[in-house]
Amino acid sequence: MFQSFRPTWTVEALYALDIKDLHQQNIQGILVDLDNTLVAWNNPDGTPELRKWIKEMRAFDIPVMVVSNNKASRIDRVVTHLGLSYVARALKPFTRGLHEAQKKLGIPKENLVMVGDQLMTDIKAANSFGIRSILVRPLVTSDAWNTKFNRAMEKVVKNKLFPTGIRWERKLT
Ligand SMILES: [Mg+2]
Repeated sequence: MFQSFRPTWTVEALYALDIKDLHQQNIQGILVDLDNTLVAWNNPDGTPELRKWIKEMRAFDIPVMVVSNNKASRIDRVVTHLGLSYVARALKPFTRGLHEAQKKLGIPKENLVMVGDQLMTDIKAANSFGIRSILVRPLVTSDAWNTKFNRAMEKVVKNKLFPTGIRWERKLT
């Protein structure tokens, strides 16, 4: 049962993904979780690295779409000034949000990747939907109170899948 939580790759951070790697893996569109993946929950404006990365993706025509379980008003506040579109109330680990994002982008499943910081929601949803996935290190280790329970469960799954710890890569290998 734990295999359905296994990511295709484990990468240090969203902005470590570079164009060369994405092209090599035939990735043409990126679905990305919001909280603790795109931005830290306590820093909704994002970092300079993030803004630079988004610009680079745009320059190479790789759409980045936020797929979040959060409500539209909260996502809107964060992504509007970053220039990203989004799917709200995605219901991850279910596939509703990913399905909607894929339809909006019109990109085949085999050319999409889901990036997120949680095995239980982001990675599980990607595996159920049948697309590749990238687990990133959560941007901050302290977390909003309402995800503390999830994080405990997350730990159990992580220890099963990565008994010697996760190797955070700098690229897709
Ligand atoms: Mg998250």
